[in-house]
Amino acid sequence: MIYLDHNATSPPRESVKAAMLAALDDVGNASSVHAAGRTARARVEQARDRVAALVDGASSSVIFTSGGTEANALALKGAVAGALAAEDRLTRLLVSAVEHESVRAAAVALSETVPGLKLGEIPVSHDGLIDLPALRLQLMQGKGRVLVSVMAANNETGVVQNIAEIGKLLRAEGGEGALLHVDAVQAVGRIPLSFRRLAADYMTVSAHKLGGPQGAGALLVKDGAPLAPLVDGGGQELGRRSGTENVAAIAGFGAAAESLRDMAAEVSRFALLRDRFEADLLRLAPDAVIFGAGAERIANTSNFAVPNLAAETALIALDLDGVAVSSGSACSSGKVKPSQVLAAMGVGQDLARCGLRLSFGWTSREEDVDAVISSLRRLIDRRAALAA
Ligand code: PLP
Repeated sequence: MIYLDHNATSPPRESVKAAMLAALDDVGNASSVHAAGRTARARVEQARDRVAALVDGASSSVIFTSGGTEANALALKGAVAGALAAEDRLTRLLVSAVEHESVRAAAVALSETVPGLKLGEIPVSHDGLIDLPALRLQLMQGKGRVLVSVMAANNETGVVQNIAEIGKLLRAEGGEGALLHVDAVQAVGRIPLSFRRLAADYMTVSAHKLGGPQGAGALLVKDGAPLAPLVDGGGQELGRRSGTENVAAIAGFGAAAESLRDMAAEVSRFALLRDRFEADLLRLAPDAVIFGAGAERIANTSNFAVPNLAAETALIALDLDGVAVSSGSACSSGKVKPSQVLAAMGVGQDLARCGLRLSFGWTSREEDVDAVISSLRRLIDRRAALAA
């Protein structure tokens, strides 16, 4: 199989599988005081250090979760409940128009259930970049404490947001106690990130986008940022997320983070593959549109449309050729609904229906580009024959 869907999930690396198997061979509960428990605890804490090191954060800021979705929910819902408990409640929640469904849905649920919490949507430009003047206006016009949630890189287009500028704007115009959450699920391991230096109070990471296991993730939280747990119980993760730790998955997450300490070589390889793919595509179909091409993008992602080549048809034909790509985000594909991200970028429905996403990862090779291009060539030739 030619697997070009690493933004949906990236297959576990060999070092990840080895770390998980080793952890599964231990029977300890990380909270137990006996030797087996201490071994499990050591694996969890080593993974915590490795995840923290990957994003230049303090180990104590890392809360392990069941993935990016839970970490996003913990950030938003935990911040709102935590601020309320500290009697400094949030009254405004601003979420960008291109956020992942897990952020959007959590924000909507909060605005429908928390009295006095108003939800606003931050628009994006044609290239998918947060509209900074619009955000400035939203910050200046509203009243009360605000939480802003923006992603570092978009899962569909790969467009990278200017988090430093957004942070500056928030500090200048957001008022007292303004908070920033960054969903960095698609950015970690693909661009250098420093949680310590970033103006963010919360940051979300997911293991399976890094070549770690599915069902593991983390929320990083700065000291002093409000946070109430979503799950109560045994008080694991310093009371911030109860439940027996999934030691094997956490160990795998740590191994994935460790393998990315020197990500530069991997990232420049993705850039070569992606740039070659896009150059070949434009030679094949000069009318193809590459979304977000005018903005900085993570090096592994290409989201494009060939006019009159419907994504659904293309996905099936590519699959028959053994090529796995995606249309829009994996979570909404299958539902055959137009991409919210492309709509927010002002892409018309007809073109958006043709949107395909290729995302490279650690398994990707030159031959994968050859395979997807020759598969697309057959489809594009057929399109030309039908139009003739
Ligand atoms: N945020 C972004 C930007 C994502 O791309 C995804 C997954 O596609 C998530 C959050 C959710 O992460 P998980 O699959 O670990 O729940």
